[in-house]
Amino acid sequence: MIIGVPIEIKNNENRVSLTPGGALELIKRGHEVYIQTNAGLNSGFPDEAYEEVGANILPSIEAVYDKAEMIMKVKEPIEPEYKLIKKDQLVFTYFHFASYEPLTHAMIESGAVCLAYETVEKADRSLPLLIPMSEVAGRMATQQGAKYLEKPIMGKGVLLGGVPGVSPGKVLVLGGGIVGTQAAKMAAGLGAQVTIMDVNLDRMRYLNDVMPPNVVTRYSNEVNIRELIPHMDLIIGSVLLPGAKAPKLITRDMLKEMQPGTVLVDVAVDQGGCFETCTPTTHENPTFIIDDIVHYCVANMPGAVPYTSTIALTNATLPYAIQLANKGWKKACQENKELEKGLNVVNGDVVYEAVAEAFDLDY
Ligand code: NAD
Repeated sequence: MIIGVPIEIKNNENRVSLTPGGALELIKRGHEVYIQTNAGLNSGFPDEAYEEVGANILPSIEAVYDKAEMIMKVKEPIEPEYKLIKKDQLVFTYFHFASYEPLTHAMIESGAVCLAYETVEKADRSLPLLIPMSEVAGRMATQQGAKYLEKPIMGKGVLLGGVPGVSPGKVLVLGGGIVGTQAAKMAAGLGAQVTIMDVNLDRMRYLNDVMPPNVVTRYSNEVNIRELIPHMDLIIGSVLLPGAKAPKLITRDMLKEMQPGTVLVDVAVDQGGCFETCTPTTHENPTFIIDDIVHYCVANMPGAVPYTSTIALTNATLPYAIQLANKGWKKACQENKELEKGLNVVNGDVVYEAVAEAFDLDY
């Protein structure tokens, strides 16, 4: 199969969908890989690294879309890309169709086959192509929180790990899923005193077993949250209600109960945020302050660490890309139900129920 990797043109997107290592695995299996010049540069992979493994470099995005049977991307196509996508072309990327109707209609009109990373689903209902980015965001949440606790950037002036003779900082993690677990691990590793709150008792039993002694679990409810927040230095929001907006666990009035300079990192901002005062921010301007409380609410946290994020993403996508390239999308999806769940739009038809429902389309 001929595989094309265009540069990501969405604002501030520095990831690329295939590493040179991934390109080699496809080439070894008899496929041709075409990379748009400089597509990997911001992730630390220059054109030469792809050429060394036998990939071909093309000068323009048009040339990549024109050549490829399968396009591998990171972000959903944006308006200038719509016209480049051809009938019957397989496009394997994050789409998030349900959140943007014009994209859905553009892909229906294109006649392409759209296989969305975010809906590839395992039998246990986990989402293998979303997990790596949650892992990145979770680890980053603690790193960013530690940074914004510094006084010059309006934080409380607390060093999370403390020092001999000085108590470590206190971290509250709301939601002990993928993001929350990684955030808690990082905070615990720094030496902070960490509390994870969740509503899933089985999950808390598991976390209780695997986390180090400086991590404790508490049931998540308003009384417990109100009891803890006056003592916290960093509060990380990482709850998820699948398919729904995040619950507002920290309300505006609760800010008054916190100490000035407390840092809130709302990783769940992409689902509306679990702090009432959260509004999405960007890497250029990541924080704002309300009632002396620092808010960090960047919606695409993994975008700040493209080297790590690119490798983490491609580790997860490559096995699926190999199946698609070896067998073609029809056979690959027939034989692998995880991949079949990724099909959203096929040759003009919406085939994913939630997308059809979102825009009242035939399914
Ligand atoms: P997950 O499903 O693995 O974990 C969510 C956890 O929240 C679950 O353990 C669930 O039991 C818990 N929960 C639900 N209701 C709760 C409540 N009322 N109180 C406490 N806990 C509750 O999800 P995840 O992969 O960890 O993702 C968390 C959020 O982070 C999602 O909104 C996801 O979209 C977002 N995310 C954001 C970025 C970013 O760049 N900002 C990147 C990746 C993921």
